[in-house]
Amino acid sequence: MCDDLDRDILIIDEGDSLTMPFFCPLCEFVMNNRDDFSAHMRFNCCAECEMSFAQPNRDMWDSGWRPDEKDLNSYKERIMNKSLNLFLYEEDN
Ligand SMILES: [Zn+2]
Repeated sequence: MCDDLDRDILIIDEGDSLTMPFFCPLCEFVMNNRDDFSAHMRFNCCAECEMSFAQPNRDMWDSGWRPDEKDLNSYKERIMNKSLNLFLYEEDN
């Protein structure tokens, strides 16, 4: 593997080659599905960020607004707790 390999992956979609980074530029979680891909095409973020930030603040988002660090951190905590709860729930079964 090359050390200078960048972190973009290639997605082939009906003959068009488009790229999506491995990680959301906003929340830095992994982007790995079609929802994330289309959210990235539209809003340059993952599907979760689209739902939480981009859609509710569409006009501001289009003019360059992004959530501040405080909002982003509590959002990330929420996402991580959500995944943790799912994990614990599965463990209990
Ligand atoms: Zn995100």
